Amino acid sequence: MTLLTVENYIDGAYAPAASGGWLTCEDPYAAAPWGRMPRSGPEDVDRAVAAARRAFTAGPWARMTAPQRGAQLHRIAEAIAAHAEELARIESRDNGKTYREMLGQLKRVPEWYRFYGGLCDKINGAVLPTEKPEMMNYTRYEPLGVIGMITPWNSPLMLLSWKLAPALAAGNVAVVKPSEYTSASALRFAEILTEEAGLPAGVLNVVTGLGAEAGAALTAHPDVAKVAFTGGIGGGRAAYMAAAANLRPASLELGGKSPNIIFADADLEQAARGVVSGIFGSGGQSCVAGSRALVHRSVHDALVARMAELTGKIRLGDPMEDSTDIGPVANRAQYDRIMTCIGWAKEDGATCVTGGAALADPKGGAALFVAPTIFTGVAPKDRIAQEEVFGPVLAVLPFDTEEEAIAIANDSAFGLGAGIWTRDVARVHRVAARIEAGTIWVNSYKGGSHISPFGGYKQSGIGREGGIEMIHDYLQVKSIWLNL
Ligand code: NAD
Repeated sequence: MTLLTVENYIDGAYAPAASGGWLTCEDPYAAAPWGRMPRSGPEDVDRAVAAARRAFTAGPWARMTAPQRGAQLHRIAEAIAAHAEELARIESRDNGKTYREMLGQLKRVPEWYRFYGGLCDKINGAVLPTEKPEMMNYTRYEPLGVIGMITPWNSPLMLLSWKLAPALAAGNVAVVKPSEYTSASALRFAEILTEEAGLPAGVLNVVTGLGAEAGAALTAHPDVAKVAFTGGIGGGRAAYMAAAANLRPASLELGGKSPNIIFADADLEQAARGVVSGIFGSGGQSCVAGSRALVHRSVHDALVARMAELTGKIRLGDPMEDSTDIGPVANRAQYDRIMTCIGWAKEDGATCVTGGAALADPKGGAALFVAPTIFTGVAPKDRIAQEEVFGPVLAVLPFDTEEEAIAIANDSAFGLGAGIWTRDVARVHRVAARIEAGTIWVNSYKGGSHISPFGGYKQSGIGREGGIEMIHDYLQVKSIWLNL
């Protein structure tokens, strides 16, 4: 089989890498390689950062007025909308998630560029009434420069856009190091934005490679003004430390172990459906996967039975088929991780209600599938209750009082999201205020919007993405004094 070759995208064109090494692009459902991409090193990152710097300091991007930049972001939105199906197919082929899910994400992505594009001409400084009558003082908001963006494989272009849309709106330029499992969509995306939407060359550059190589070179680059990272704790910590060594800011969107808390007065059918889709939608490969269910003891058995029944109806198979709910696990490393976590739960004495094992590839091939799995009898300190699995595994923990539910929910290094299921309005507000998490859903789970801030407490991250204020994370303010 001939493998396609993809190249880095630098300064408005595909460019052969200096490194000379290659990584394989895999299709997890076909369980076969389809292409190869550069295993870039520091020299390639240097080239991309230099191109971005040039675009930032000279050329059409640097000269664009704010309204022109806004119009540019709107053209980007239209180009993405026109290519949503094509980009979703690339993503689904590379990460094994359903085409339906990836297309749903890509259909929402243009909204981010429209929203932040609309803010371009609304970022204004002020004339400040200082105590010095002989001086005029005013402020200007200016972009930071080259933003080094590192993205994961689970929702590649959506998570890239959460950074890129506000960064561009603020006038910055970007070098992106996408996940080594899903780089193809970012390359095609950069080509579409540059060649079809007219983004000037060098404003968006994409360098493929490994986290510890190209990713580390990008986060440590002295000309990178800010690091914007989405991924796991290990990579996030490394990216944060690299930025700190250069005294640069970093935003981190990291993992989670998000709880759904089901009180005795909840609508149990609604809760069962919400918890099951909150963990098994996306095959658990979502940062906000509701991977813990804290259930009031009085409704525990009934809820678990209903969740098991709903879980049994989940269809695994070809990610391109409309009837498929969950595709294969994205890659071997992730599959090994999920199986290790399932092993921990069993060793620690949890009861496996459903799943708990790998499933054969339904087409007889070598694709890796894991059955949606529910464990009960989990204690708060068990590894399956503490560690992010990033796979289709739900840990169910009983509780007796509201106080205990809050304590278990907060007994986690993470703090990304939480769901509260109850009909008691006063309890909603009490509990929502005390849960240590960046997003709380009540009688629902996982909704979001470009208009609302998203991010983590504790080790789930630093900073927020989405919302108006967030554009200031990509700006710096200058104070100008004028002697009258
Ligand atoms: P990962 O951390 O393995 O990789 C993410 C990116 O970081 C990749 O591009 C990788 O190459 C890069 N990277 C790894 N080590 C690096 C280093 N030392 N220096 C620089 N870059 C490095 O994560 P993943 O497996 O791709 O994604 C899954 C993780 O991402 C999960 O923990 C998930 O919860 C998290 N995630 C968080 C959010 C959020 O918004 N909070 C969204 C999606 C995924």
